[in-house]
Amino acid sequence: MGTLQNYEAMVLSCIDPRFQDLVSKETAKKGLTNKYSAFTFGGGSIGVVSPTFKKWHQTFWENLDISVQLHNIKKVIVINHRDCGAAVAAYGAEKISNKETETEIHKSSLIQFRNQLKIKHPKLVTELYLMDLDGSVISFD
Ligand SMILES: [Zn+2]
Repeated sequence: MGTLQNYEAMVLSCIDPRFQDLVSKETAKKGLTNKYSAFTFGGGSIGVVSPTFKKWHQTFWENLDISVQLHNIKKVIVINHRDCGAAVAAYGAEKISNKETETEIHKSSLIQFRNQLKIKHPKLVTELYLMDLDGSVISFD
């Protein structure tokens, strides 16, 4: 089944077509081209933590377990994005149309994601980002 290799990271990002190239460019900047395990999920971290998408949660965590086993990842990079349809589905159009509350919703879901990850995989570190439509990112600690 192939040799265990160190692929360094999993990148969790959204299914939105507008962001596929932008996410690739961002990971290329990090020197991660062909070195990460990709998981594309509606809403990024929102798909993993929001009650709206409860049925998806276990799928994500089981997929992460496999990625840890097969690819020996050390880090999960999460790239959420603005104007996200999954964020609207989970939290309502009104909150997402306001840039400040939109930022807070993403920040909160990214932090929740990191907290859940710490319990399930204490050794994995995270990088948490929110990407704008022009590809610029802000990060959260
Ligand atoms: Zn999205």
